[in-house]
Parts: sequence; C-alpha cells; structure tokens
Amino acid sequence: MASDYDYDLFVIGGGSGGVRAARMAAGTGARVGIAEEYRYGGTCVIRGCVPKKLFSYAAHFHGEFEDAAGFGWTLEGARFSWAKLIANKDAEIDRLEKIYVKLLNDAGVTIHRGHARFLDAHRVEVGDKVLSAQTILIATGGHPVFPPGHGWEHAISSNEAFHLKALPDHATVYGGGYIACEFASIFNGLGVKVTQIYRGPQILRGFDEDVRGALAAEMVKNGVDLRVESTIDRIDKKDGNLALHLSNGEVLETGLVMAATGRRPNTQNLGLEAAGVELTDKGAVKVDAYSRTGQDNIYAVGDVTDRIALTPVAIQEAMAFVDTVFRGTPRAMDHADVPAAVFSHPTVSTVGLSEHGAREKFGDVDVYRSAFRPLKHTLSGRDERAMMKMIVDRASQKVVGAHMVGTDAPEIIQGIAIAIKAGATKQIFDATVGIHPTAAEEFVTMREPVPEP
Ligand code: NDP
Repeated sequence: MASDYDYDLFVIGGGSGGVRAARMAAGTGARVGIAEEYRYGGTCVIRGCVPKKLFSYAAHFHGEFEDAAGFGWTLEGARFSWAKLIANKDAEIDRLEKIYVKLLNDAGVTIHRGHARFLDAHRVEVGDKVLSAQTILIATGGHPVFPPGHGWEHAISSNEAFHLKALPDHATVYGGGYIACEFASIFNGLGVKVTQIYRGPQILRGFDEDVRGALAAEMVKNGVDLRVESTIDRIDKKDGNLALHLSNGEVLETGLVMAATGRRPNTQNLGLEAAGVELTDKGAVKVDAYSRTGQDNIYAVGDVTDRIALTPVAIQEAMAFVDTVFRGTPRAMDHADVPAAVFSHPTVSTVGLSEHGAREKFGDVDVYRSAFRPLKHTLSGRDERAMMKMIVDRASQKVVGAHMVGTDAPEIIQGIAIAIKAGATKQIFDATVGIHPTAAEEFVTMREPVPEP
C-alpha cells in the first residue's frame, strides 16, 4: 500500500498493542513508524503485568517456605532482600525492552522517541519533526488515577510501587480491584503488614459472588487486614509516617499508602481535536468494532479505548486492525469470553459469565461448585481452600462461565477458556477424563449442580 505520505502507518505508543500492530503491518510490506515517549514495552512490560508477576513469585516463597516444613524440610536463615529483587527485576525489564526494540528494528519499523501529537488527521509532530502517514494508530494506553481528596500527593500508585527504595513495616492499599488485590497480596507475602481498604461491601466488584467471597476469606486468612465499606477521607503526614483518616473516624498510621483506584486512558495532549478524533464520556478514544475512530484513517487499540484493559486483548485488537487495513481481510476482534486473572494470593481466574450475569442472560442455569482443601495442604498444614465454579445454560447445556480461586487458577482457566470459546457443553466436560491428582480435574468431575437458591 504505497502512499505519498512519509509512512503507510504511524503508531503512537510503544506498548503491547502498538508494537504488535507496527511489526505485523511492516510484515505486509507497509512503511511503518512508531513513537514512544517513555520506554518501549508499555504498561505491561515496564510497570505492569511482567514486573508485577515477578514480585508475586517473590512473595509466594514466603508461604512456600512455611509449607515445606510439613514435607520434612527445615529451612534456616531464609532472608529477603528487596534491593536484590528490584535490581534483578530492573535487569529483566531492561532485557525485555531491548527485545521489543530489536523486534521493531528487525521488522523494519522506524523508531521515534518522544511525545507524538496530531497536527491534523494525517500529520503528527514528534519533537521537532513533522511526520505524515496514510493511517495512524493510537495505542497510548492508560495511567493510574488517584481519588479526589486531601493528601493523595503523599500516596503512590502502582507505577511507583515498582521502584520503592525500601519496604515499609505497614502498607495500606486503597481499592478492591485487580491492582489492589494483587499488591495487597504481594506486600503481605513479602512480610509487610497490610491493610486493604475498599469502599464497597466486597472486593472484586463485577466478579462472581462466590469468587469475591472466597478471595476475601483467603486474603484475610493470609493476614491482610481487609476493611470493606470504608474510605480514606484524608491523608496527613505525621512523624515520617502517614495518618489516614478513615470514614469510621479512625486514624490509621501507615508507612505507605498505595492508591489502586482505577486507570484512565491516555488521551490528553495528543491533539485529538486537531485530528477530529472523538472521545467517549469516560475520556476514551471512541472506536467501532474494527477499532476505527470517527476519522476514516485513524484507529485505536488497547487501554486507550477502554474496552477490556488487558494486554492480550490489545494484541488481538492490533492483529485484527492489521488484517483489516493491511491484509484486505476486515475482521472485528471478538471480545466475548475473554479469560482474565487476578494475581492475588491465592490467584483468581475467570472466563465467561458470573452466576448473576448468566441468570440475567439465560434465566435458567445450572451451577456446579466445589470447594476443597488442596492435597498439598494436607501435609503443609496451611488452612487454604480452593474454589471452583461452573455455570451452565440449562437449555443448551453449554458451559457459559468458569471460575476458580486457588493455586494455578490462571494456568487452569486458560485451557477451560478454549473449551468455552468452542462452545463445549457440560456433557463434553463430563466426557473428558481428569488428570489425577490435580485441582484442575475438578472441572471435569463436578456432577451434581448446587440446589437452586
Ligand atoms: P479496577 O477498576 O479493577 O479497580 C479500581 C478499584 O478502585 C475498584 O475497587 C473501585 O471501586 C475503586 N475506586 C475507584 N474510584 C474510587 C474512588 N474515587 N474512591 C475509592 N475507591 C475507588 O482498577 P485497577 O486500577 O485495579 O486496574 C485497572 C484495570 O487494569 C483493570 O480493570 C484490569 O482491566 C487491568 N489490570 C489487569 C490485571 C491482570 O490482568 N491481572 C492486573 C492489573 C490491572 P468500585 O469497585 O466500587 O468501583
């Protein structure tokens, strides 16, 4: 697709979605440029999924050392160094960033470093350069937001959590979503006393009720001081600590407060008005099913569109965009049955509908549920229970939701997600032979639905 522009495609944002689109489009022979103002790799690689999961591994060792005793091991002198974890994590993130840059270079994409801003629908300014392109893709991601109120400038977001100089004795995590549950678990596992404060009646709003209850119970058992129906109304500095004024009148002293109160699309200072690109009420770039904005030649993928804020979704949206614009095979990404995981301790993973959502959609559903003590904990002595749940549309017998709270939940649900995407019925699950002894086999051995409520 040759054009008179500098590029056939210019991508704004070097995260998961932008890099994938740039590489794949270049692979079709298109002339592609990309701009990133911070580090190539974006939220997921630099200050999200990847370093978070490395932290989560670090935090898991604590419990595993304790579990080991029941299996005959004596571990003496185990010590944790935050500084070493940070240094090793930084080295790994540097390595991954270089790989992203190499992949772009190898694909023939021209890399720009700097903030890009639209001058009009076909031209962007990056530093002192003006670049033109036939098609422009916005893939600028999102950023954490702090709640309104006094004193939040003393708090950190997940961005800063990856670069703390030292761990505090006590940390407070504010929020009940993905990031709050993950970081409350990480800090707790690393030996920090943790209070998690959430405004609603139960954490993980939007997830299946049994999942919400099971995770909350396990996090509390693990030592997290979880306070629901509570808000932080004001933060003051006090003798090197922070004083949190809570809605019940209590003043909680803490060494660190982390806001995990949601993320917002990066749409500011991009010159979107000059390009004629519209935003939704929530400030996200408005796109159709093909990720096209109101401007025919401008597309957007990933968190900036506020559809489903997950890396693999951004990547699939990017691939569908390349098929549509550069391969002549228009394709909308299917956002149904996207599996997801919360890397809390224990992990949560889910695909398809919650029981509540399935009842709303299908009316009659069969619910299968199993809660059990995993085999490992018979000897470890740890009081942890796993919970698995399956929702079946009674009329078609299709499995329309699967949920798990427990060790390896994301590894297990990934496979179940394929079956659900393929439209598998409960009978197909029943006809599948389990792998024994595993937790995963529960998904093919649950025979009796729970009684109707
Ligand atoms: P979430 O939307 O998951 O959670 C935000 C939390 O903050 C909710 O509990 C919300 O409460 C609460 N909240 C929002 N505003 C306020 C306020 N003004 N005062 C008090 N509480 C408030 O956002 P996250 O920041 O945790 O994550 C953003 C997105 O990033 C996720 O939705 C997910 O898509 C993605 N992500 C995915 C991960 C993964 O795949 N493992 C990990 C991390 C992030 P309420 O529920 O009442 O609205």
